[in-house]
Amino acid sequence: MSARGYQLPMPWAVGRLSQRQTLLAGPAHATYTWHMSKKPRTDVPRERPAKNPSANVDLSAVVAKVEAGERLNLDDGVRLFESSDVFTVGRLANLVRERMHGRVTYWNTNRHLNPTNVCFVGCELCAYKDIPNAPGTWAYSPQEAVDVARRDYTPDVREFHIVGGLHPQWKYDVYLDILRALKEAFPKVHLKAFTMVEVDWLAKLNKKSVEDTLDELMEAGLDSCPGGGAEIFHPRARDIIAQKKMTGERWLEVARICHLKGLRTNATILYGHVETFEERVDHLIKLRELQDETQGFDCLIPLAFHPENTPFEGHMPATDGFDDLKVIAVSRLMLDNFAHIKAYWVMLTQKIAQVALHFGANDLDGTIVDERITHAAGGKAGKGMTREQLCTFISEAGRVPVERDTLYRPIDPKHRELVRTEGSWQGPAWAGADLQDGALA
Ligand code: SF4
Repeated sequence: MSARGYQLPMPWAVGRLSQRQTLLAGPAHATYTWHMSKKPRTDVPRERPAKNPSANVDLSAVVAKVEAGERLNLDDGVRLFESSDVFTVGRLANLVRERMHGRVTYWNTNRHLNPTNVCFVGCELCAYKDIPNAPGTWAYSPQEAVDVARRDYTPDVREFHIVGGLHPQWKYDVYLDILRALKEAFPKVHLKAFTMVEVDWLAKLNKKSVEDTLDELMEAGLDSCPGGGAEIFHPRARDIIAQKKMTGERWLEVARICHLKGLRTNATILYGHVETFEERVDHLIKLRELQDETQGFDCLIPLAFHPENTPFEGHMPATDGFDDLKVIAVSRLMLDNFAHIKAYWVMLTQKIAQVALHFGANDLDGTIVDERITHAAGGKAGKGMTREQLCTFISEAGRVPVERDTLYRPIDPKHRELVRTEGSWQGPAWAGADLQDGALA
């Protein structure tokens, strides 16, 4: 441990803790249990309930609603999932996508930074957790976070996407100091950091409200928040895949607080595990309701569950391309108040992500370079793409690549007019309205 109390990044330096440990977790003084074993669980379902779509589902009423621009309800969403008519579902999603964005497809030049992969929570769904002293764990000091960020940095990097585990030995100041150190070293790079799970935990560590904690994090350099940790909100499925994680209601509440503070966030849906079609649509409607209230979400990122190295390995097959495309498409159709649906190529693979650009997706995430979370769970899509590869990949799908910053402001001035004319989405009004402001300082 360094003089300032940070954990060193090497496996041998990560704290030595007993198998069961009581942690003072802020005002709640919660008790957490280490999950030392990754043995396959035998009490999880062996098959995904959300499968076996049928050719006999009548979509005519849903088609009429989408063509008329009407909002879809829970039954509509479930019917879309139940139907095996992926062409009709995709055509509808593409109709909405092109109404909003035309051919425009966003991407950004970003880097992922995971300050630690040590986490005491022990979500069943997660391969990206480990115990102290286990081979392969790391926990960066602020200076080490800067060093890692610098390793892959190029002057065109616009964003650091920063998420990690809840390290049981880190104090609140570690997180603040990581933000400060990164902002000082890279003042022009947008820091999109900490999921709602992390924000909630930081407030507990800080023994202050989420509101006051966000003020301090923003002061330290936080610019926006990613969308992870939402998983699936419905308690039946959530209790199986992430029993010890914050509830869906709490995730939405923390997101609401972020939005009211003026922090933009993203949202996610984790699919392809134990959730039903109804639970997927319920999740999307809860996000839509909060978006009606706050307009604080930029983007939904559907995340395909990867079972490898989780207790579901051997029980649960990975998702297939058919379902991946359906989730992208139904998300586009249900979330009429979300500007952007992302085809996260790291999880989907490049080939499915490319097709998804015609199934409702209008964003591909970014160059990334060093993705670790999905790869810990068996992701095979590669850890990064070059700017040229991303643009070619989009163009070959018949779309127009538009590099953006985190807030969806086009980087290239000639793209600003294109965004205005291609679809009904007129740019990020929350960021000062005019896309002319999109050029970064
Ligand atoms: S999903 Fe997040 S909170 Fe849960 S164990 Fe993994 S890193 Fe920890």
